[in-house]
Amino acid sequence: MRWGATGRNMGWSPVIYLDHNATTPVHPEVRRVLSECLDQAWANPSSGYSAARRTRAVIDGARSAVAGLLGAEPEEIVFTSGGTESVNTAIASAARLHPEKPLVLISTIEHSACERAAMDASGESNVLRLRVDREGRYDLGHLASILAGEAPRIALASLMWANNETGVLPGIEAAAELLVEAGVPLHTDAVQAAGKLPVDVRSLPVDFLSISGHKLFAPKGVGALFVKRGAPLHALIHGGGQEGGRRSGTEPAALAAALGAACRLAAGKLAAGELDAVGRRRDRFEQQLLALPGARRNGHPEQRIPNTTNLRFEGVPASLALVVLDEFGVCCSSGSACKARSGQPSHVLLAMGLEEKQARESFRFSLSVDTTDAELDRAARHIAETVERVRAATTAVT
Ligand code: PLP
Repeated sequence: MRWGATGRNMGWSPVIYLDHNATTPVHPEVRRVLSECLDQAWANPSSGYSAARRTRAVIDGARSAVAGLLGAEPEEIVFTSGGTESVNTAIASAARLHPEKPLVLISTIEHSACERAAMDASGESNVLRLRVDREGRYDLGHLASILAGEAPRIALASLMWANNETGVLPGIEAAAELLVEAGVPLHTDAVQAAGKLPVDVRSLPVDFLSISGHKLFAPKGVGALFVKRGAPLHALIHGGGQEGGRRSGTEPAALAAALGAACRLAAGKLAAGELDAVGRRRDRFEQQLLALPGARRNGHPEQRIPNTTNLRFEGVPASLALVVLDEFGVCCSSGSACKARSGQPSHVLLAMGLEEKQARESFRFSLSVDTTDAELDRAARHIAETVERVRAATTAVT
């Protein structure tokens, strides 16, 4: 069995896995590096003997690989436990360092890691929310008017690079320009952008940037925060002063090495144009689904990461259809994985102006470089049948 794609073995049954924005399996090369380090680089890197120095070298190599994917310097990379910790660190730090600036600016489409961290750091009434348009792009007029009134009182703006539910690139570049002009520091949640398109901190005036290992074929429990040289950071986690005092705790060298390996792989795939090929497969799949009656796309048609499509099927509640799709072995979702059990419609789609019913009829399909056309064709057939069955059943009831 291939490690990925068709018949991916999830431990009990083969599935067509179209939920790579929720998480990715560990790539065999990443697993190899991880297991080698667990066996050979387990000495505490802060100890004084040569085995410890070998562990330190492993971490240094991993730091360079992560920096390489982001166009950063190795010293600008802080290893964390994942995207949530990275985002929380950037936001809590800004609020802590700037008590004279009570406001945090986020957008209406941020992941809950950002939203909750902002509310915790500043209090609900001090969180400013940048609107998006119907296609999920930042409303720059709204941003300009927020900055005109409030810029001196904003400790940090935290705006995502790519949205996890729609895949839309909301326009971080244009937003960053306005923020720089207004002198507001910027953190960007690049958890869904890294590895899917070029992310280069040298070409974007960003002070902080978050990534997560498990969206990149590394295991859960590791991520990184880019901290621009000279940007002040107040640590979220205190202790032995590891990571230059920016994130304490004995370094998990094997996890760091796994993230480094995943970043190297991601950089290679981007350079080889594999993500462009994913985009072509996604487009073909999307066209098949858009040909179904009552199908619509949510979000900007071009400005998005190549692996994601968010579609709605009129009259087909996702809560019911996902159960049928699961029986067919198709793994996809109706929004972010963390909100899946809340029963709430997607805040991202509502922010884009969809009605609650439309949001509840929406589905996210997210591919990887290993997703094949054959898998997508099979998934499209299962989706067509599901849409028809669920629509017929709900029409019969109503
Ligand atoms: N930000 C975005 C955009 C995400 O999609 C996720 C995970 O779904 C996170 C942050 C949180 O990352 P992690 O699961 O590594 O904590």
